[in-house]
Order: sequence, then structure tokens, then C-alpha cells
Amino acid sequence: GGFQSMGLSYPVYKGVMKKGYKVPTPIQRKTVPVILDGKDVVAMARTGSGKTAAFLVPMFEKLKAPQAQTGARALILTPTRELALQTLKFTKELGRFTGLKTSCFILKSVCLFFNSAINENFLPNSCAVEMNLKLHSVEYVVFDEADRLFEMGFAEQLQEIIRRLPDTRQTLLFSATLPKLLVEFARAGLTEPVLIRL
Ligand code: AMP
Repeated sequence: GGFQSMGLSYPVYKGVMKKGYKVPTPIQRKTVPVILDGKDVVAMARTGSGKTAAFLVPMFEKLKAPQAQTGARALILTPTRELALQTLKFTKELGRFTGLKTSCFILKSVCLFFNSAINENFLPNSCAVEMNLKLHSVEYVVFDEADRLFEMGFAEQLQEIIRRLPDTRQTLLFSATLPKLLVEFARAGLTEPVLIRL
């Protein structure tokens, strides 16, 4: 099965083709259909596997549905600024025919809880300026490189974010490794997740 057999809508498929992806990578082949099916997923995948597109492509499909309420619809959490910027770039490239807006906020964890984004780190090319990061409208959540998020000491913040997200969301966790802490986190924060490994 190639991308064309995944049932992608034309704007999403076109983005994938224009990016030059002809054949899905193994992790994409395994995860995209499960995510499109609406399931929570724990995917063991490392950088270089094509994991970013594995969660972005189905995200675009999901966000085609009309928005129920105003606010951010998808939240992708990454351990570093560099990875956030790279993911932002991918999102803009892959999603360029979808008409969706993408912003990237570099947050200091504590400020998220006080509901104020940090000015100083605002990225110049974000298309929406939003001083409050509200999570009530989030439908799609990705913990990317989750083991690194934990290694960097964000466990408490991640728990807090999970608590603030609507129950109806779809949650995905991508990680190179699955330490016990992460398994417990997934058990509490994801709903009957499908475990995908290569
Ligand atoms: P990632 O693991 O998400 O960091 O992606 C690693 C690299 O693989 C990036 O340069 C992607 O643009 C590229 N890539 C992702 N999916 C595909 C694909 N299906 N075909 C070719 N290259 C891809």
C-alpha cells in the first residue's frame, strides 16, 4: 500500500507528493491507518523513521472536519526548540494545500499553567499571535520524542497538560524507547492505545 491507498483527501495527498514522498516508510504504513481510524497510538519510532509525517498526515485529515469551537485544534509537544521548528516546517510544507494555519510557540512550562505564552521566544513566522494557550478545543495531541520529554524533566508538566485537555481528544505518543515511566504515563493519558513497533 502506497499513500494513495490510505484514503487521503486530495489536498493532503498533494502535500505528501509535493514533498517528494512516494512510498510510505514502515512506521507510516503501520501508524497512519490506525490514527485515521481514530485510535490512540503508542508508536516506537526514532528520528529518521519518518515519524513526523506519520502523525502529521492523519492530523490534516482529522482537521478537515469542521471545527466545533474556536481555539487550537492540535497540539504537538516536542522536547526541544529545534525539533519544534523542524516540525513547524514539516507542517507548513505537508499541509500547504489544506488551508490550515500553523503556529509554533516555545513555552516555558510554568507559563503554560498561568495561561500566558512567552513573548521573547515568539517565532517570527507564526501566523497567529495568541497570548493565551487554551487547551479546551484541542482534538489531536502528539507527544513527540516522549522519552526525551521525560528525560528533560517535563513529567509533571506533561501530566498537567493531560489534565487540561478535553477527554474527547485523540492522543498519540511517539518515542524511541518505552521506559516504565512512559508506559504508566500512556496508561493514564491515552485511551486503549494501539502499540506500534517495527
Ligand atoms: P523524521 O523521522 O520524521 O525526522 O523524518 C526523517 C526524514 O525522512 C525527513 O527528512 C523526512 O522528510 C523524510 N521522510 C519522511 N517520510 C518519507 C517518505 N515517505 N519518503 C521519503 N522521505 C520521507
